[in-house]
Amino acid sequence: MDSKAEKILVLATGGSIAQTSPKDPTLLGDTLVDAVPQLRNIADISVEQIAQVSSPDISVEHWLRLARRINEVLAGNDVQGVVVTHGTDTLEETAYFLNLVVSSDKPVVVVGAMRRPYSLGADGSANLYNGVAVARDPNSRGKGVLVTLNAEIHAARDVTKTTFNLDAFKAPDFGPLGYVNAKNGTTHFYRSPTRKHTTTSELSLDCETLPRVAILYSYVGVTPDLFEAVAAAGYKGVVWAGTGNANLPKVIRPAASEAVKSGMAVVRASRVNCRIVSRNDEIDDDAFGFVTADSLSPQKARILLMLALTKTADPARIQEFFDAH
Ligand code: ASP
Repeated sequence: MDSKAEKILVLATGGSIAQTSPKDPTLLGDTLVDAVPQLRNIADISVEQIAQVSSPDISVEHWLRLARRINEVLAGNDVQGVVVTHGTDTLEETAYFLNLVVSSDKPVVVVGAMRRPYSLGADGSANLYNGVAVARDPNSRGKGVLVTLNAEIHAARDVTKTTFNLDAFKAPDFGPLGYVNAKNGTTHFYRSPTRKHTTTSELSLDCETLPRVAILYSYVGVTPDLFEAVAAAGYKGVVWAGTGNANLPKVIRPAASEAVKSGMAVVRASRVNCRIVSRNDEIDDDAFGFVTADSLSPQKARILLMLALTKTADPARIQEFFDAH
């Protein structure tokens, strides 16, 4: 090992990459790293087990623990990058949360696996190797939190799980930032994110937990009772996963308007895959006090809204957060 090798910390959380059966993950991060001896040739690896769950069970508490540990180690001069191993179901959410609250420009790369270890064509080891290759590369700095599966390098803001195949993680709107050459671990970037993230983010972790925000999905025949129930349950915000341009049917608008008047935040996001939600088009957002989610999916709009609500409940200020991140 070259004494100048970059020190990379692997933070393991579970997921299929660590599952030897359909049940809960059992392989520890150390085992995942030991299964890839080539890793020791490209970086000085250390491993910590942050959690051991399938990612549908990832919680806000896991997020806070993970983000605080990342900020703690990257604030020092020792660790030069972090790789997070994670289940793929909620990988995009964890990556986007970290993209908004990590306070370092050092690389943080989230990886997972579409196939379990020991299964035919298992992808976890290659994804982990590629993740470390990206994390050790100085060119990965300042690009926000990255997601690497299937040799593609994605921005946390853009990427989403699209299929159950090896190439599941895509950025339908904008494509990958670059690629990893799995043969030799070299990385190739072709663009950088333009929205605020990590060290330029206006959001932060100075909160013990996050406000509750619900996502309500629009569909033919939707009725306002769910909106009313969420408001009555004390949620601080709602992301409306609307049809088309994130539309609310007329039958919903009174309940949404009442929610805003009661101090809740209402964000219009679109259930359409590639979108840029426009304000004051079919719906007078200014009059209702609604926020629009730009190109964020409903699940990512919820994360930005939760963090924004730790700063303000003012719809205009929240809109500024959405327009900048
Ligand atoms: N259910 C698994 C998880 O998200 C799927 C995976 O990891 O690929 O933990």
